[in-house]
Amino acid sequence: MGFLDRFKKKPEATPPQPEPTPPAPDAQGPTTGTVRIGPKEQTVLMADRLATAAPPAKSPPPPAPAEPEVADEPPKKAGFFAKIRAGLKKTTRILNTDIRDLFKSEGRLVDDAFLDELLEILIKTDMGVASAQQAIDEVRSEFRGRVVHMEDVVGSLKRKLKELLKQPEQPIRFADTGTTVVMVAGVNGAGKTTSIAKLARTFIAQGKKVVLGAGDTFRAGAVKQLTIWAERLGAEIVTGEEGSDPASVAHRAVTRAVEVGADICIVDTAGRLQTQQNLMKELTKIHTVIGKKVPGAPHEVLLVLDATTGQNGISQAKSFSEAVKCSGIVLAKIDGTAKGGVIVAIRQQVGLPVKYLGVGESADDMTLFNPDQFVEAMFEDLMPAAGAT
Ligand code: GDP
Ligand code: MG
Repeated sequence: MGFLDRFKKKPEATPPQPEPTPPAPDAQGPTTGTVRIGPKEQTVLMADRLATAAPPAKSPPPPAPAEPEVADEPPKKAGFFAKIRAGLKKTTRILNTDIRDLFKSEGRLVDDAFLDELLEILIKTDMGVASAQQAIDEVRSEFRGRVVHMEDVVGSLKRKLKELLKQPEQPIRFADTGTTVVMVAGVNGAGKTTSIAKLARTFIAQGKKVVLGAGDTFRAGAVKQLTIWAERLGAEIVTGEEGSDPASVAHRAVTRAVEVGADICIVDTAGRLQTQQNLMKELTKIHTVIGKKVPGAPHEVLLVLDATTGQNGISQAKSFSEAVKCSGIVLAKIDGTAKGGVIVAIRQQVGLPVKYLGVGESADDMTLFNPDQFVEAMFEDLMPAAGAT
């Protein structure tokens, strides 16, 4: 039985994993029972979170220090391609080792056995069976029955993967005049706040004035985390009390941004699961409130996905887009996974463009997503991209 047949014939043999709840960094919140319960409206929200949170431990753990997670920033200046290459190191190392192993004996006959082995290697990168199969079909139609060298096959794979990842250029959509508002959403720990810092750094470096809105009023330490970034980056920040209405913080942030003539206002939101109806409604409310203040805003709603959670990100993306119309994806932590191929599955299965990649924890560790450069970086150890710096 071929490798693919195992997927085709026994889908029930690999049941979908239960959706993991991404770790909430230094979240105390409802599980420890230490959350301040505020007015009626917040009580409802808390109840919603409690309903989906893990049951409280018998004896609550001692409260961990609510230190915000803001990584130290080593000074670095890396070019565009260098960042993608560094971010994809884990993926590249494993993928390229596997492919090199396939060609231990120089030329290889492209037969079913070979194609099965190649398919297995691609699936290991988390690009999804359908995408991997399409790439294999390309190799089959080009080389079947012939003895080929690694460069032939890699060239063919690169061409197909670039095609699968293709999307129109995706710069941030700026307002024609006045303040551009960017709203950021995603599950807990996906990398929202860090991505906001990275975006702010990018815009500030372009000479733009940035105001941040600390709309995650839920997680202990979240406001402080963004405040530290704001101070470090030289951006103004608008905050609210822990537990206060995030829509009101968003409104005040956008109001302030307009008042001071900021080019961009980036609004953070608390992490939530796509299954939490009330919280998804809260996102819609934030969206509406922003739009009332600045017609046409938010100009971008960026969904931050954690690349290390693999294909689970795909169902997140679908549900988030249903609740709030997202305009693009920021795929964070691509540097933390050997399964960077997940981006192919995302592009194939989610009707949203990938705008940025998070390639590390510092504010410089973000790059625009460029499909061609991404694919070149994936196979860099085998065939260095011409002229890459
Ligand atoms: P949020 O809950 O969605 O706001 O997530 P955070 O921005 O607080 O990030 C959660 C953790 O992921 C923090 O420890 C970040 O430093 C880390 N993180 C965020 N983006 C990246 C990334 O692109 N690469 C790596 N390696 N870590 C990241
Ligand atoms: Mg956050």
